[in-house]
Amino acid sequence: MSVFYEYLEENKAKIKDQLLQLVKAESPSHRKDKVDECGVILKEIFQNNLNGNWQLQEFENSNAGNHLLFSLKEDSNKPRFLFLSHFDTVWEVGALPIVEKGDDIYGPGIFDMKAGLLSSIWAIRSLQQEYTELPFSPVFLFTSDEEVGSTTSRKLIEEVAQTCDAVFVMEPPVSGTFALKTERKGVGRYTLSVKGVSAHAGNHHEDGVSAIHELSQQIIKLEQLTNYEQGTTVNVGVIRGGTSSNVVSAAAEAEIDFRVTSHGEADKIIKALESLSPFNNAAELAISGELNRPPMEKSEKSVRLYQKALLAGKRLGIELQEAKAGGGSDGNFTAALGIPTLDGLGIPGDGPHAIHEHIHFDRFSERSALVAELCLELSNS
Ligand SMILES: [Zn+2]
Repeated sequence: MSVFYEYLEENKAKIKDQLLQLVKAESPSHRKDKVDECGVILKEIFQNNLNGNWQLQEFENSNAGNHLLFSLKEDSNKPRFLFLSHFDTVWEVGALPIVEKGDDIYGPGIFDMKAGLLSSIWAIRSLQQEYTELPFSPVFLFTSDEEVGSTTSRKLIEEVAQTCDAVFVMEPPVSGTFALKTERKGVGRYTLSVKGVSAHAGNHHEDGVSAIHELSQQIIKLEQLTNYEQGTTVNVGVIRGGTSSNVVSAAAEAEIDFRVTSHGEADKIIKALESLSPFNNAAELAISGELNRPPMEKSEKSVRLYQKALLAGKRLGIELQEAKAGGGSDGNFTAALGIPTLDGLGIPGDGPHAIHEHIHFDRFSERSALVAELCLELSNS
């Protein structure tokens, strides 16, 4: 068994204690005050765990929590590995209790992804027990708005990733499995607004142009773009419109989420959305939105990185698997830039964004040791 695994197992109580501190510091994306409070605890945990001359850069945001970037002060020619994590969650404060059941721990954001974040810190700590000087230079980026589309962090993620040789995304593995994520769908978010003409539903129905009627027809057309074989889905998840049942509606809108596995499909869907035309020429359409995350497609570089992970797994006596994920992560940005990216290195469990969100804490040491072994495997090549 790996020395890192043994070291991590010996420190299980300390790890659990830090994990619970992080989870108790609840951090819903839209609560800057809470996210920053969690950031304070995160900084403490980081500094208490790791030796070395770390430089902390804090990127302030007025509406989102601050992003935290830790890197080593000494400039070196060693390969730079980026550990990418977010510490915001989808949970309102107090919405989900923290409960331990056997080897599992339930709590808000524990699976997605505070346990994975902590695992990257402990992977480096376990390496520091063995090496006074690491054969690579670790860089940690902790962001605060992944769950709401990474609006304020995207640029920073891209900039930092471009200075690195590989990116390890500490998001959890596919729910209920140990599988790493080597492909992720791209995600687009659009809003379709329809402008009609209001009229009294009784006296002047024929003078009205129903925005709701028009939108309904558009929705059917939109959802026909779904193609499961291609892995493309177009989902209208929210609709709004109208003011009263006795009024022909003057306005209506739909929120659209689409997912694609390739850039080609993304272009196709975007083109379809941007060329929508009204069924009733008296109605007006307006479409807005963007491809929020480009698809993370398999590349030669990412395959090589995954193969290194397989070797690292062998040293621990585990056989890894890979999988495609339907959800996007910040790894989509770095992969799209051509930087070797491996996602899903976090802690196994289940229930992301669901009330049964939990991790298998008994697998923490194994996963964290895997990251340590992977760093060595990659620096030696
Ligand atoms: Zn996440």
